[in-house]
Amino acid sequence: MLAPADSSAYRKYAPDREFDLLHLALDVTPDFKARSVAGQATIRFKPIAKPLEQLKLDAVELAVETVTSSEKIATYQATDKQIIVTFEAAIPVDKETTVAVKYSATPRKGLYFRTPEMGYKATDMHIWTQGEPIEARHWYPCFDSPNEKFTSEVTCRVPSDMVVLSNGKRISEEKQAGSDLVAVRWLQDKPHVNYLICLVAGYFKKVEDKYRDIPLAFYTTPSEIEQAKYSFEGTKDMMEFFEKEIGVPYPWAKYDQVCVGDFGWGGMENTTLTTLNERTLHTPEFETLRSSQGLVAHELAHQWFGDLVTCKDWAHLWLNEGFASYYDLLYDRHHRGKDFFLHDLYSSAKGIIGQTDQTNAVVRRDYNEPEQQFGYQVYPKGAWILHMLRSQLGEDLYRKCIKTYVERHQYGTAVTEDLSAVIEEFSGRSFDQFFDQWVYHASQPDLAVNYSWDEKAKTAKVTIEQKQKLSDDVLLFNFPLTIRFKTKSGTVDRQITVKEKAEDFYFPLSEAPEVVRVNPELTVLAKITFSPSTSMLYAQLADKADMIGRLIAAEQLGSKKERGAVAKLKDALNNDSFYGVRTAASKALQAINTDEAYDALLASARQEDARARQQVLTDIATFYRERTYEHALKVAQEEKNPDLRAQALTIVGAYPKPEAGDVLREFLSSDSYKNVLGDGAVNGIRATGDANYVAPLLAVLKEREAQFTSGGFARGVDTLAQLGRHQQDKTAVREFLVSNVNHKKQRVQLAVLAALGTLNDTKAIAVLEPFAASTVEGPERTAAEKALTALRENRPASAELGSLRTEVLNLQKENRDLRKDLDDLKKKLEAVASPQTPPKKKSSSAPR
Ligand SMILES: [Zn+2]
Repeated sequence: MLAPADSSAYRKYAPDREFDLLHLALDVTPDFKARSVAGQATIRFKPIAKPLEQLKLDAVELAVETVTSSEKIATYQATDKQIIVTFEAAIPVDKETTVAVKYSATPRKGLYFRTPEMGYKATDMHIWTQGEPIEARHWYPCFDSPNEKFTSEVTCRVPSDMVVLSNGKRISEEKQAGSDLVAVRWLQDKPHVNYLICLVAGYFKKVEDKYRDIPLAFYTTPSEIEQAKYSFEGTKDMMEFFEKEIGVPYPWAKYDQVCVGDFGWGGMENTTLTTLNERTLHTPEFETLRSSQGLVAHELAHQWFGDLVTCKDWAHLWLNEGFASYYDLLYDRHHRGKDFFLHDLYSSAKGIIGQTDQTNAVVRRDYNEPEQQFGYQVYPKGAWILHMLRSQLGEDLYRKCIKTYVERHQYGTAVTEDLSAVIEEFSGRSFDQFFDQWVYHASQPDLAVNYSWDEKAKTAKVTIEQKQKLSDDVLLFNFPLTIRFKTKSGTVDRQITVKEKAEDFYFPLSEAPEVVRVNPELTVLAKITFSPSTSMLYAQLADKADMIGRLIAAEQLGSKKERGAVAKLKDALNNDSFYGVRTAASKALQAINTDEAYDALLASARQEDARARQQVLTDIATFYRERTYEHALKVAQEEKNPDLRAQALTIVGAYPKPEAGDVLREFLSSDSYKNVLGDGAVNGIRATGDANYVAPLLAVLKEREAQFTSGGFARGVDTLAQLGRHQQDKTAVREFLVSNVNHKKQRVQLAVLAALGTLNDTKAIAVLEPFAASTVEGPERTAAEKALTALRENRPASAELGSLRTEVLNLQKENRDLRKDLDDLKKKLEAVASPQTPPKKKSSSAPR
C-alpha cells in the first residue's frame, strides 16, 4: 500500500522515547560451528513522563527463552520484529527497572561469522558485528534508534586462545569453570548510541602504539599481521591533529582498529573499536595506488563526529558523515599539503556534480530505509558544506564554532539546527539562506560564465548565469564568489555576490589579464562552465602557483584540436610538479585522440608516481593498436607494481594473439598478494571472450580457490559463465556452478546464482527454482529470480552490463581501489567495442 506523501508512514522521524535507557549488558556465547549465538541482554531503564505498561524492544528473529524483570511481568510476546513485555502493573515514572531477555539467534545480519566451514582459513576464524544503521536488532534485543544514549557492556565467551574486542575498557577475563571457554568483559562507561555497540572475537594479532595515555592498537587476522603497520602508521599523527583542529580531546578510553573478513562496508566507527575492510591492507609494492590514510582518518574523525555527537535521526546523517569526510580532507592538507587538499575538493566536487540524482536534499525525510541516506549528499556534499562554512567564516571563527558545537552536544545527539545556532551566535550573521539552499534543498549552482575585455575602457566584463533547473527541490543560489585576474603586474582578487538568474559584473583593471580564474580557491561548490581562450589556457597551464588552474587548463585543452596542445600537454605530463596535473594531462591527450597524442602518451609511460603511470597505461589502452598490445605485454612482464601488471593483463586479453594466451595462463595460477595477478589474468581471459579458456579457468577455480579473495573468486565464477555460454557442451561449467550453489560465502553464492543465468543452460532451471521459491526475502532469492527470468526467456543475461551495475553498487560501499578497477574495465569495454584500428590478425576463436 502506498501511504499518503505527508503521512508519518512515508516521512521518517525519530521514534518516541517512552523510557530512558540507562544501561545495556550483553552476555553472549558464539557457536562457531553452528554459526549461532546464545545470549542474555539485560537493560536498565526508567519510564519518562508517563507510567510504562509495556516495554517494546526491537528484535528480529530472536528465539526468546525467558524474560525476567525486577517488576512483575504479566506476559511477553516475541514477534519476528519485536519483543513486547507487558507488566502486571504499569511502572511508575522514574522508577528504575531491569528486564533481562535470554535468547538465541542465527543472525542473517548484524553478526557475521568467518569460519573454515564457510571457506575461510581455520587459523583466521572470527566473528564481527555491524550495528549501523539498524542491524543490531538481529543479534540482541534493543532500542535500535540513535536518539537514545546509554552506557553498555559486552561479555563474550570464547575458547581461551581467541581475542575478544568490544567498546570501552576491558574489565575482566575469567576462565569459565568446567569448559575451555574464557569470559571477556568490556565496559563502555560513557554514553553512546545503540548502533555503535560492537563485538569482534576470534583469532587476531595486533600491533600497538600509544598517543599520550591513550592505547592504540591495530588488529588483523594472523595471516595478515605483516601488513598491519602500513595501515596503522598514521593513526597517532591523525589523533594529534584532530585534537588540535577540533579543540576537544579524544573522548574515549582507547582506540582499536580491527580488519575483519569480507566486511560489507569500508569501515565502521564503533566507539573505541573501528572495524575496517581487510581490503584496505596493502604492501609497499603498490606504491601510491593503495593507501589506508583516507579510511583511517575518516573513521577516527567519527569518534568525535558521529560517536561523541550523534545525529538524532537518519535525516541528519550528514552531521556524522559530512564531518568525517571533511576532517579526512583537513588531515590530508595537514599531512600532504594544500595541493592535495584542493585536489581532493576538486575531485569530490566533480563527483557531486556528476550525480544524476540532483533532487534530494542533504537533510530529507522521504527515504524508505535508513540505508538510502548513505549517499553522496551526506558524504562529499556534507564535506563541501562544511568547507563553504569554513571559507565564509574564516578558519579561526569556524574552529571556535565547531569546538562549541561539539562541547555543547557531547555524549548527546544533534540536528542541523544545533550547528547553525552556534554559527549564528558566534558570527552574528544569518545563515538561514545558506542552510536552506545547501542543506534543505538539493543540487548546486550550475554556472555559465562569459568573459570579455574592453581595451578602451580597460574593463573586464564577466557574465554569470545560474542554469540549474529551478523547482520545489532546487533554488536559485545566493553565494560569494571570487574572480581572479592575473596580469603582468600581479594578481587581483575580486569578490562578488551571485544571486540573480543572470548578471553582468564589471571590473576596471590597469591592463588586460593574462589569466581569468573563477572560484580559484574552490570556496564554492558549483558546476562552472567557462572556456577561456587557448592563449589564456596556455598561461594557466604554465602558472606554477596555481595547481587547480593548471589542472583545469589541462582538462580544457583536451577538448581543443589546437595544434600546439599536444606538445604543451606532453610537457605537463612529464614535468608538472603535481601528480594530479600529470594525470589530467594524460587524460587530455587521450581525449585529443590523434596519432600525435598517442605517441606522446607512449613516450610518457615511464612515470615515477604510480598514479600517473596508471593513468597513462589506462589512456594508452583506449587506442586499440599493435603498439598498445606490445606496451601492455611489456608492463605485464616487467612492471613491479602488481596493480599495474594486473591492469596490463586485462589489456593484453583484448588482443587475440597466441603469446597473450601463454601469458594469461601463466599468471592465472601465479602467486601474488591477494591474488592480484591471478585476478588480472581472469580479467584478461574475460576480455578474450574465448571459450577455449574455460578449461584452464575451471581448473584454477577448482584447485586454487583458497588463493582467491571472495570478490576475486566471484569474478572468476562470473567470467567462467561468460565464456562457458559460448560452449556447445556446458556440462562441466554447469556442474561446477551447481556444486557451489550453496557456497557459504554470500558474495560467492550470489555470483554462482547469477552465473547460472549467464551460462544460458536450461538444465540449471531446476536448481534455481527452490532459491526463487524461498519464503525468505533476501539477495539469494533476488539473484535466483533474475537468473531464472534470463533462462526462461532463453536469452543470456546481459551480464557485461549486469556485472558492471553490480560493481557500481559494490563500489559505492567499498574502497577507492575498486573504483579504479571499474574505470579500467569501462575503458577496456570501450576500447573493445569501438576499436580504432582493427588488430592485424583476427583469431577465429575470439567471438565478441
Ligand atoms: Zn563514515
